[in-house]
Amino acid sequence: MPRLVIRPLLATLVLPLVLGLSGPALPTAGARVSDPAPAAPAMAVEARAKPDTLFPRQGHTGYDVRHYDVGLRYEPVSNRLEASTAIRAVAKTSLRSFRLDFVGMAIDSIKVDGKPARWRRTAEHLVITPRTPLTKGRFVTTVAYSGTPSDYTDADGSQEGWVRTVDGAVALGEPVGTMTWIPSNNTPADKARYTFRIDVPNTVQATANGNLVSRERRGLRTTWTWQARDRMSTYLAMVAIGSFNVYRSSVESISGRTIPLWSFVDTTNDTSTAARALLPKVMTFQEKLFGAYPMTSGGMVVDNAAVGYALETQTRPFYPFSVDAATLVHETAHQWYGNSVTLRDWHDIWLAEGFATYAEWLWDGAHGGTSPAEHFDDLYATPADEGLWHPAPTEFTSSADLFGEPVYNRGAMTLQVLRERIGDTDFFRFVKRWATLHRQANASTLQLVTLAEQVSGEQLDGLFADWLELDGRPAGY
Ligand SMILES: [Zn+2]
Repeated sequence: MPRLVIRPLLATLVLPLVLGLSGPALPTAGARVSDPAPAAPAMAVEARAKPDTLFPRQGHTGYDVRHYDVGLRYEPVSNRLEASTAIRAVAKTSLRSFRLDFVGMAIDSIKVDGKPARWRRTAEHLVITPRTPLTKGRFVTTVAYSGTPSDYTDADGSQEGWVRTVDGAVALGEPVGTMTWIPSNNTPADKARYTFRIDVPNTVQATANGNLVSRERRGLRTTWTWQARDRMSTYLAMVAIGSFNVYRSSVESISGRTIPLWSFVDTTNDTSTAARALLPKVMTFQEKLFGAYPMTSGGMVVDNAAVGYALETQTRPFYPFSVDAATLVHETAHQWYGNSVTLRDWHDIWLAEGFATYAEWLWDGAHGGTSPAEHFDDLYATPADEGLWHPAPTEFTSSADLFGEPVYNRGAMTLQVLRERIGDTDFFRFVKRWATLHRQANASTLQLVTLAEQVSGEQLDGLFADWLELDGRPAGY
């Protein structure tokens, strides 16, 4: 996501009640970058990771989802959805009952391994009790649901979830809105593959993440089947339905693969020619710096949804109304940083946004614009009492600050400080290694610090503590 354009203040008054943010004080204990960062094995880092303190009600650790098969039959005129999602998962232990995150539409039935299960709803959960308790191992949950899907308003006032447009809808999920249309283990740490089967009238088109595998027309309706083959966190899932111009092209990856690109652009204001021509150039530029493109397809969705932000929805980012070059560069960089290497805890959002912002600076500097060092200097001159410096990028305690300026600009400044400290050669080795080491996985700030120290041979915990944890402007840079 680029920085939000729209931030209604009213929402900050109303939403703590809705989101339960007025609950108990958020714990602050856990892994911090100021902790010693020994070259510990990955398991030790895992064991020290703090639970997600921003969205403690989201996600469940008793099972791992492997695949979501999402069937949607949608009526654009009435905004009615009939849906059935099959969730293939693995229980990590025996479970008498388990939870999925879900809000909104009516539940028609829930089956576990083909047998009707008992279930009840709480505010944001389905609590499911199978006929016989689950044993450790594979199980399949099928949830049938229908009704008018809801959108979801975040603590910063932005809108996500199932967002209706004039000619259809777009579903966007950062940070938690996917639970309005997919019953899911709605935490970034549980990645899965997805199949989307979207049944719509022939008058509209339907896209989602991944590769288009079939388009079957039957009478007045068409089913579009998309497969997201790259493991994906729920917040990156996307569906867009509407009247679109559909463009198919491809780009050659440095890996030797041909990456198919599908772009869906609203027919009423299609100004996408320049952006579609730029996308392969951006991907090639970023492959040279970050390593091979980590996904099996690409493209874009440009739709008239007044949400006020673009989003790096996996393989096929969403752009509201139009696409500018900087935003295209930002959302494309997220395919490496954020989507392939994904935060495990929302407090580490700078791992996505700091890198994507830095990617904008790299593009800018290489194309006759402001260099990363100049971007840094301009920002460092920001007066010490301004929002850039408060709260520090990993130290916010409200989800309203999830997409705040420190996460983006101070996050990118952290990378520039690192680059100046360890030099260009080690910095770009580190950037590429970070993308390959955790490709299609989850990672933490602590793991990043450890890697930077390993690559450079320098002790860097003080630098990262200054830039990610200290309230106020770090001195001496
Ligand atoms: Zn972003």
